[in-house]
Amino acid sequence: MKKIILIFAFLNSILTFSQILDCPDYPNPDFVQPPSALYSRSVLAPPPESTKYVFNVKFHIVKNTNGTGVTANYGENEVMNAILILNTHFNKYNIFFKYIGFDVIKNSLYMKIRSFNGGAQNQNAAHPFFSEMVQYSKTGMTNPVYDYNAMNLYIVEAIDISTVNSSAQTSGVANRPGINSAFAYNRLLTATLPHEIGHNFNLLHTHQGYGTANCELVDGSNSDTAGDLVTDTPASHIPSSLFVSPTCGYLNPINATDCMGTVYVNCPVKNFMSTNTGGPCRQIGADLLPGNAEFTQGQANRMREQIEAYYNSPTNIYGYRNAKNEIESLYEPFAVVDVGSSSTSNTTAYSKTYTPNETNTGANVWNCPTYTLRFQKGFNWIFSNSTIGTLNKTVTDQYNYSINNHLVNVQIPYLGSEVHQAGGIECFSSFEPYIKGDVKSLPNLGSPVIMYETLDQIKASDPNLFEQLQSQEYHIITKETESGFVNQKTIFKN
Ligand SMILES: [Zn+2]
Repeated sequence: MKKIILIFAFLNSILTFSQILDCPDYPNPDFVQPPSALYSRSVLAPPPESTKYVFNVKFHIVKNTNGTGVTANYGENEVMNAILILNTHFNKYNIFFKYIGFDVIKNSLYMKIRSFNGGAQNQNAAHPFFSEMVQYSKTGMTNPVYDYNAMNLYIVEAIDISTVNSSAQTSGVANRPGINSAFAYNRLLTATLPHEIGHNFNLLHTHQGYGTANCELVDGSNSDTAGDLVTDTPASHIPSSLFVSPTCGYLNPINATDCMGTVYVNCPVKNFMSTNTGGPCRQIGADLLPGNAEFTQGQANRMREQIEAYYNSPTNIYGYRNAKNEIESLYEPFAVVDVGSSSTSNTTAYSKTYTPNETNTGANVWNCPTYTLRFQKGFNWIFSNSTIGTLNKTVTDQYNYSINNHLVNVQIPYLGSEVHQAGGIECFSSFEPYIKGDVKSLPNLGSPVIMYETLDQIKASDPNLFEQLQSQEYHIITKETESGFVNQKTIFKN
């Protein structure tokens, strides 16, 4: 009887394959097995909860060589929402993600990729491997886009397309442990995103070992050494819709069992690291904020242990050391955009302040460029200064602040009451000579002009102009610089 049940369960896993699978478990090509201590709850304790980790994140959007394809319109809006998802799901574990930008890989060859040898069955061999795409972005491009100082997230059309059933695909792939991951474009803003990043931080699937002789047991007796090696995720198989109630409880109508024949009673159908085919029980919210899906504290501890062990690695093993950043970086804008250099204008936008110089030959000009400071999604922010007062922005806000020659106070309340400052773009001074003007001379103020002289550039910028004027008369002198500053004064010459 037990044998029959196992066969049924296996068939069921085949059936679920016709839907989008979450991801194959992808060993790092430079894989170095983490010390076994990292896998034993009895040896290591997680780092103090107050220890914070920050990772840079760089996105690469793959498009057809001519820029077309299903990802044609993907850009900052999509990747910024990905940053929102990552932060709102990992910040509670003191893991933070700093957005540092995206770029586009225009090469039709990499629109569809394979995960790795031994991944999903019947992969289309015409498609390059994930690792080949990563390598291309490192060394194959004229201007390589791979960022060694960031986690690299690739967005492609599809992964692991089955030659037998074209609807059988994988939604994501990741190095475990590592800093690289790839996503089918239509799975980027789903539970697949935290799932793959969980792999980057060395999490296994909750059903790891399912169907093997050394599976994790329902009684929990080997949860430290089998399955996903996380004690607070129950022993699990790959749950399908057959096993999940509409309210996201776990059902087991066929009495599926572990490898000792014990019937599963509690599969983590909401867990990010389960493969519940993206069903309604394992979702981020419709607004990309936390929804049903979750990590357990045990999984969070595992991720933090993994990060802690390699965050400051002298050899940059798994790429963590170079991809990390400082907490302070979170307060900084991800981009400082010169307003004048935007696509709608070719001239730099400056606020200018003019002061006539002492020799009357021109004006001293303070040029204060206007910049836009761009702050990422994913945090609640408080911005303040005397110009804007106090502005509260939420995790879903993309805040752009135009600023010149002043500072804005930046707080991220989640990180405490600390205040950082951004902005303070340097102004610079320049000199503009007068280039034209005129002099109106009159015997008394209010009387008709008796003499009118236009000034060319030489006369307008002549420091001795005053000496050449008629004595015992009033003179209204008007001078103008090239950029339009007008200086007018009325004098009486004795
Ligand atoms: Zn996975």
